[in-house]
Amino acid sequence: MPAHSRTHPILRAEQGTIYHRASSEMVLCYPNNYRVAGASLGYQVVYNALNSRQGLSCQRAVLPDDAFELTWRGPLRSLEHGMPLGGFDVVLFSIAYELDLPHLAWMLEAGGMAPLAMDRSDKAAPVIVGGPLTQSNVLPLGPFVDVVVMGEAEEALEVLLDRLESGMPKPDFLKALSTEKGFWVPSIHGDAIPDVLVARGAHIPARGVWTSPDAEFRDMALLETSRGCPRYCKFCVVRAPASPMRSPELDRVVSALDEGIYRDAPRVGFVGAAVSDWPHIKGALQAAIDRGKGIGISSLRADRLDETFVGLLHQGGYRTLTVASDAASERLRRQIMKGLRPKHFLRTAELARAVGMKQMKLYLMIGYPDERPEDYQELYELCETISSRIPLVVTISPFVPKLHTPLAEAPFEQIASQMRKLKAIQKRLRRRVEVRFDSPRWAWIEYRLSQGGMATGMAAWEAFRRGGQFSAYKRAFRALDSDQESEERAAVQAAMKHNLWALSGAR
Ligand code: SF4
Repeated sequence: MPAHSRTHPILRAEQGTIYHRASSEMVLCYPNNYRVAGASLGYQVVYNALNSRQGLSCQRAVLPDDAFELTWRGPLRSLEHGMPLGGFDVVLFSIAYELDLPHLAWMLEAGGMAPLAMDRSDKAAPVIVGGPLTQSNVLPLGPFVDVVVMGEAEEALEVLLDRLESGMPKPDFLKALSTEKGFWVPSIHGDAIPDVLVARGAHIPARGVWTSPDAEFRDMALLETSRGCPRYCKFCVVRAPASPMRSPELDRVVSALDEGIYRDAPRVGFVGAAVSDWPHIKGALQAAIDRGKGIGISSLRADRLDETFVGLLHQGGYRTLTVASDAASERLRRQIMKGLRPKHFLRTAELARAVGMKQMKLYLMIGYPDERPEDYQELYELCETISSRIPLVVTISPFVPKLHTPLAEAPFEQIASQMRKLKAIQKRLRRRVEVRFDSPRWAWIEYRLSQGGMATGMAAWEAFRRGGQFSAYKRAFRALDSDQESEERAAVQAAMKHNLWALSGAR
């Protein structure tokens, strides 16, 4: 039961909430809404780790659904006990996505804190950030935060908490952290970003803490199967050189199913960048099904599927089979080292149909360098053949070059050119295939935040305050380009200056 009259009503339906209080109080924020926050296993893991530490408690705060409506009434408060952000000893964020950066600044302001680090006093709570975005470009976060924990935070968390417990003044705390591995302190390091941390296998599998009917994966308890990936796709920040595959034995995952939130959860979500590459995945699916659970999987590779695998997915409640082709043709997939062939997708369609699934979804990106008309011709033929076997939905995103990947310096294709390609795909496939796509305009904003420096973060915040429409971002970034010539690729230049390429195998 909620422990306080200020407890947010959304927690009434949540299982696994931690309400305890302690002498040192932290808040762990997610710069998106509760639905999205609940889909982050990393967010749940840090929440649990902080609450497990003696003398410390951690509450959560998320972006309210009505944050940008007239109905919004501040201040922003924690979910568990309704405390304003400014009342906590430490404010932490987990951030996954570039476009959430302005939300982070908004949450600080709405919680009664100055959004810019330079405007906060030495007495104000330190603002500390981690999460998946730290695998890529963190420079735009610099103006807003005091510390960034780079990469996988399990081991760094112990160092961080030891330093916090020592009770030193904030300037000394920041100085001390700046000498530790994996901590970026923007006020001390400037644009010299430290290497990303890679956690030991002992922390795997990470376990979820709560389930909720209001989370994106409804009533699903999340459980990690593996960390990192054994593959080398050139666009991906989780590729093997940066994040090698670490995977537990089957019994460690299966035994978790009989403990904690998994016992009562109606559904279990197996999480990892490369779940279908984990050799024990079928055993884990079978174990969950034997316990009467529905199942979910965060990633499926078409060339890893067979009758047994797809049959288990169907038994576990799957009615749509989603796989990523990531590029329009086999030629392009070879270039980006995706290594999948049309036959793998056709086989997936046959397997899905054979077990009685309702549809197949194919995900891909457009806008790679050197795309040719024949690549799209191959895509059309593939989609038409698949759709003759099973209803098909194609979801398309613009390719956004990410830092610390071999394609980091690739251009972002002009928005107008991407729109032409998307319209052509829709026109050609509209009778047979449902085509959905992400906006190239917002992908361009993501690109600028993926590649820019601290000034880009400031420009994004300015655009957000001016209404947050695409036109506001365009104006803010264009103004930046005329002021500071090198800002568009500031992160790539900083990475080269400080020799950050070695880590990702990108050089
Ligand atoms: S795209 Fe998927 S398969 Fe490729 S490196 Fe990334 S996680 Fe691995």
